[in-house]
Amino acid sequence: MTELTNWDLGALYAAPDDPELTATLQQLTDKAQSFRTCYKDNVASLQADQLAVALQEYEQLQIKGLLPYLYAQLLFTADSRPDEIKSLFAQVREEWAEISELLLFFELELMKLDEHQFRSVQSATESIPYRHYLNQLRKGAPYTLSEEVEQALKRKDLSGKEAFGQLFEELTSAFSYNFVRPDETEETEVTGEELLSLLYHSDGKIRERAFSTFLNKHRDNALVLTACFNNLLLDHEREGELRNYPDLMTPTHLSSETEPEMVEQMMAVTEQNYGLARDYFTLKKRLLGLKTMKNTDIYAPLPGSDRQFSLDEARQLVFDSFNDFSPQLATLADNFFKDQRIDCFPAPGKTGGAFCMGMLPGYQPYVLLNFTGNLRDVSTLAHELGHGVHFDLSQQQNLYHYQAPLPLAETASVFGEMLLTRKMLDSEQDKQVRIELLCVKLEEIIATTFRQNALTRFEIAAHKKRAEGLLSPDDYCDLWWQENSKLFGDTVEMIEPYRWGWAYISHFIHSRFYCYSYVFGELLVLALYQQYLEQGEDFVPLYLDLLKAGGSAPPQELLDPFGIDLSDPGFWQKGYDFVWGLLDELKELSR
Ligand SMILES: [Zn+2]
Repeated sequence: MTELTNWDLGALYAAPDDPELTATLQQLTDKAQSFRTCYKDNVASLQADQLAVALQEYEQLQIKGLLPYLYAQLLFTADSRPDEIKSLFAQVREEWAEISELLLFFELELMKLDEHQFRSVQSATESIPYRHYLNQLRKGAPYTLSEEVEQALKRKDLSGKEAFGQLFEELTSAFSYNFVRPDETEETEVTGEELLSLLYHSDGKIRERAFSTFLNKHRDNALVLTACFNNLLLDHEREGELRNYPDLMTPTHLSSETEPEMVEQMMAVTEQNYGLARDYFTLKKRLLGLKTMKNTDIYAPLPGSDRQFSLDEARQLVFDSFNDFSPQLATLADNFFKDQRIDCFPAPGKTGGAFCMGMLPGYQPYVLLNFTGNLRDVSTLAHELGHGVHFDLSQQQNLYHYQAPLPLAETASVFGEMLLTRKMLDSEQDKQVRIELLCVKLEEIIATTFRQNALTRFEIAAHKKRAEGLLSPDDYCDLWWQENSKLFGDTVEMIEPYRWGWAYISHFIHSRFYCYSYVFGELLVLALYQQYLEQGEDFVPLYLDLLKAGGSAPPQELLDPFGIDLSDPGFWQKGYDFVWGLLDELKELSR
């Protein structure tokens, strides 16, 4: 039985006013300052072993600086209301910005090491654990400017791209919508989150009305939203010129460790499989008994599906499905409950959605949920605990190799969901629940592959068009409509307000071209899962090693033991073949 359902952050600090926390914050700037005094302008003159020591000091400083930050963030997400937490959060953020500025020189000087020095540092025994980190730095070197210019850019970003990002957040999070709730007769003010959650409502009219209300608010704010997009796209282009990037997606490829040709190939294969999504939508239309299928019907619940799960049932289901695969995985996942590193239920002041906070090497991860007991919540539990186990297993890596590279960041989470789905499909007696399970899984896959692909295509098109001049709101709407039409074809009718669907996607604002990593991550997991079905037991140790490796090597190198070749289009198709299989299973069940 799960009795304690709120997380306990005592392993980090006793309380927001813990004297240890106050002391850490006080000492940090001094420590960063003395690191700067010691190494500034002389990184190039250090011997390889001295450099290894400096790297360790640098890493420790960052860990010490990040811990209070992550602690404050955890407190804030669980309850953003107390003033004490708000002011701690503001304090650690400012502290971190100050330390980062003091330490900025170090990586810049590392990048500027000449080829000979660089290789001798890499071959020095002490620095071997930093091999991949140093390689990554080296790759960014040709596009990095002097410390003065980098600092100036950072400062100007505060009133430039970050300010436009902030404006977007402040504006859209302050939106309130006038809406008549499903069981009410009068208009009240509701949040955007609430409107979007109504896409899962059983009544099609309510779904359409909720989504239209949400989108039309964005239309009404077209002037500011378009200005944010136009300025951010221009900023990206100008920074690219300044840094000499060969392509507008270069910075994303550098940080995601992906190759442009590989990504283009993956997207092309995705587009060749658009028919899969359309086949699914046709089937869903039949299951819902609709004459026309609108894009607001995609997530509609099936008639008669209202299965609820208690937290204990969900915990047991995830444990069992992980345990069939690997008892170690199941134990690590269940420890989140035993150690009280999971915050389970919705509460006032608590952030929406769910996440797993990876923390730092030496500090175990935490999971936040808003568990309400539906099937999606059980899936989310498997997802977040998958992340959690990944972070637990990569604890031995250093700070820079601890987190998996972006395209691999969702591996363990999506794999965990897949284990759960399979287990439930095989053990569930109720045919209706099995049909629902497959629908939920397919909708999730469609959203992370086909939809994210369309989003990426839209983003590329918008950036290209922006290079020719300012875009009007209608220009953005048209590009958005075109890319989505390619996916939906004649099968799904997009509601007219969906022209504004681009205006609320915050990835376009905060992390350019991030969306293709979802496609990458999902297809990779499906291919890995397929391999597990083929290899059985032999696959398990390889998989656990992959998780242990964290981000200590580029994606291709991490996947070599599986015989995966990311440059082979057949690899991506293998992922889709698996999805076609799921669709066949659903067709069979719902015949
Ligand atoms: Zn995730």
